[in-house]
Amino acid sequence: MQKHTNARQTSARITFRSIAFCLFFISYGLLAQKAMPADNEKIPLDKAVRTGKLPNGFTYYIRRNLKPEGRVSLYLANKVGAIQEDEDQLGAAHFLEHMNFNGTVNFPKNELVDYLQKIGVSFGADLNAMTTFDATIYQLPIPTDNPEFIKKGLTIMHDWAQGASLETDEINAERGIILEEMRSRDNVMQRTMMQYTPVVLNQSKYASRWPIGTEESIKKMTPEAIRRFHHDWYRPNLQALVVVGDINVDEMEKQIRKQFSDLKNPVNERSAEVDKVKLAGKNNFISITDKEADGTMIMVVVKTPEIVVRTIADYKETFKRQIFNDIMSDRYNVVSLNDNLQFIGATVNISPFLGKIDLLSGMVALKPGQYEDGFKAMWREHEIAKRFGFTENEIKTSKKSILDGLALALIEKSNAQSSGYVDEYVRVFLTDEAAAGIVKENEISIAAVNEITQADMHEFIKRMMSDTNRDIIITSAEKYKDVLPNQAAVESWMQEVAKEDLKPYNDKKDNRPLMAKKPSPGKVKSTKSIASLSITELTLSNGLKVILKPTKYRNDQIVINGFGPGGTSIYSDADFESAANATELISGAGVGEFSKIDISKISMANQMGINPIIDENYQELMGSCITSSLEKQLQLIHLYMAKPKLDTNYYANWVDRTKAELAEPSNSPQSSSNDTIISVFHNYNPRFKTATIEDLKKININRAFEIYKERFGNARNFTFVIIGSFNPKTITPLLETYLGSLPSLPNKDSIVNLNIHPAPGKITKMVYKGNGNLSNVTMIFSGKYSYGVKNNMQLIALKSILDYKLTERLREIESGVYSPSVSVNYSKIPNNDYSVFISFSCSPDNYERLIAATLDEVKKLKDNGALLTDIEKFHEESMRHHQIMLKENYFWMSYITRSYKNGDNLENILEYEKNIKNIQANNIKEAANTFLSGDNLIKVILLPENYATKSNK
Ligand SMILES: [Zn+2]
Repeated sequence: MQKHTNARQTSARITFRSIAFCLFFISYGLLAQKAMPADNEKIPLDKAVRTGKLPNGFTYYIRRNLKPEGRVSLYLANKVGAIQEDEDQLGAAHFLEHMNFNGTVNFPKNELVDYLQKIGVSFGADLNAMTTFDATIYQLPIPTDNPEFIKKGLTIMHDWAQGASLETDEINAERGIILEEMRSRDNVMQRTMMQYTPVVLNQSKYASRWPIGTEESIKKMTPEAIRRFHHDWYRPNLQALVVVGDINVDEMEKQIRKQFSDLKNPVNERSAEVDKVKLAGKNNFISITDKEADGTMIMVVVKTPEIVVRTIADYKETFKRQIFNDIMSDRYNVVSLNDNLQFIGATVNISPFLGKIDLLSGMVALKPGQYEDGFKAMWREHEIAKRFGFTENEIKTSKKSILDGLALALIEKSNAQSSGYVDEYVRVFLTDEAAAGIVKENEISIAAVNEITQADMHEFIKRMMSDTNRDIIITSAEKYKDVLPNQAAVESWMQEVAKEDLKPYNDKKDNRPLMAKKPSPGKVKSTKSIASLSITELTLSNGLKVILKPTKYRNDQIVINGFGPGGTSIYSDADFESAANATELISGAGVGEFSKIDISKISMANQMGINPIIDENYQELMGSCITSSLEKQLQLIHLYMAKPKLDTNYYANWVDRTKAELAEPSNSPQSSSNDTIISVFHNYNPRFKTATIEDLKKININRAFEIYKERFGNARNFTFVIIGSFNPKTITPLLETYLGSLPSLPNKDSIVNLNIHPAPGKITKMVYKGNGNLSNVTMIFSGKYSYGVKNNMQLIALKSILDYKLTERLREIESGVYSPSVSVNYSKIPNNDYSVFISFSCSPDNYERLIAATLDEVKKLKDNGALLTDIEKFHEESMRHHQIMLKENYFWMSYITRSYKNGDNLENILEYEKNIKNIQANNIKEAANTFLSGDNLIKVILLPENYATKSNK
């Protein structure tokens, strides 16, 4: 659902199409964001972790941690992945991962997922698993308030370790789901990546072991091949159990020793050692075109051996990378503001790749017809960094931001979440990475960061920007096939840049304060408090309201959201584009005396930030900061509201870049289908559609500036919600100074009701696009809504129940869909409307059958209501989720904001658990009949282009 909500909010704004920076897609972040100990010595493991190995080789890591309370995370890590597959087993590691949810010794068939949902564990969000090239990881967070849950949890881990049933019928039934999973991932990004990865990996074994397998290998996979994989590789000497949470460590260790000692290693066991990718010292080139690709991109990648942080020296190397990534990203941000920018976007970054290889990847998205100029503009930044290194000030700034992050980790030590620890210990097992504990890591890290010199960084850059093991990858839309540069051309451009007379990067130190002089403060005029929720509401003398909720959920985090009614709703269609793009154009130019780059540097240095937006009905300022930056954060808010600036150069540059982006309509089937959904759903209202060059022409920069000032210039419009680790006594004078001093008008604005509703009636739209074998189905039920506690909870419950039913039916019974999704929206202001979105991807040959199956499940809910067991799952899952959410600052931020916008009683939340429990089978029957009547039903169906001739529906 998130997908559609976002589309709705941003569809009207002209934004950059995301450039397919695919390399990161397969880097799973094995690189820890952590600190270091003594040069080449292995850093010892944190003493707070209990670890051990059973005689059969089974390893465990146990740690008591109370964030969150009443929960424990159990992870089973296997040093086994696609790389261990034989030729007849391509995709078997991942297939087997699925089979562990389809029948084990103690949980036949689908009983595992069923049991877990009943104790409040959600499938997907909590319970999950993943298979990579080198590892298979199963994750299970469970409640600990009943000792039976922990006992069962360990039984599940034991079943996963060696107890998969692997029945032939079940394997055959899962085959379709895996093919659907493969289909759902078949997009231009994936196809492109699968072509260049083997080249980058010098055709090593990794190149032919894509974890999902191939269509042919999945169709042909025999149950025997899967059983053989299980027998060979699911063995205790390749497995570890990681347990972190609200548990007794001694007791847990006893249980593990008792229960996991019976796991057996196979006789004549095979070696799990794999050849790593060889750095062949050669340079590869590949040029890939695809009918569904947009634009042209050139990537230059340099291979380097991976770094796993085990010693102080590794830490130091990791921080050099971080400094490199930081500074280069800053430099590209500055370059992208140049007049006459010659490319659409560019980045460079060092990150983990595959097969024990890390990559430095420089990427540039090119403007049509400007390949040489665009590439050279990107490469010039490489050359400047390589020739002159980084400046003292750049390095100092980057180091400070790293050290600030380290200091914050220390402050929040007592709030470190169990999920973070489990991930860390899984890496310790899989890669032998160091995990010294937060305090020790901090010491090591600080020392390591401080030791890095300007000369070290220059040596590092020269080493990383090597000319060998350097590959060039071009990806492009099919139609540019004949005009793309070849290897010799790109290499000659590099050589030409290397000979250019270049100047070192000019980085001036900026010591200006955000505000040289404090504004004259306003006053708190009235105070109201809601003691049951520790919330205070202040009204300042200029009419601005502040809602304060001090919390201790984090030690050093304050989240802030200021909002006011109006948004783009106030403006005519003629002004709409100016209004919708006003924040991008005005705040993009900076505020007060500062450019956007200055602001982002100041924000980074002070660990704060604020982001203004104007949407349909509201203008908002959202951000967060650490406690000590609160004053500066409020100054920044003051500037965004009172001191916007007009920069016509920035505007011209932005228009130019966006034009290049929008020059051609996207070739992606997915975006065509999304465009249709947005347009149809909003009845073709011009405010809800993908931007075009024509829309760009409607922007008037002076009008956009006026609109920005209107939206943010009247303090009386605004309510600020401030939540987190602040002192309620000392915050008042700051609020009076920076928010109370903002100018205001005598009256408050209100939202203008433009009467935009979901399109009524029954509508079916076919979209024929793309050459793959993929269909996407979206079904939207909608109608008038009666907003209120009871209906809201019924809709939320209906979403969960429908989710269970469709997963069961479309995935498990029909084997036709990998992952159906259901989401609901409801609103009160400006209109009482609701919508229920159902969407899934499937084979184009099955869409009619699957739509019928969906409607059949809807009918069952309307006729019979929900099953008791589904109601039970809903109760447990929502309660567990709610208990965790109540300890999050961000949850409270969105709850309080929404309540104020809708005029809801804030104390409703005290009844939330009771309202969950009140939902019974008949409520679902009532909800299904009300909300899924089908009187208003939109269907948008994406099919491949060649289906257009097959049918004329
Ligand atoms: Zn899967």
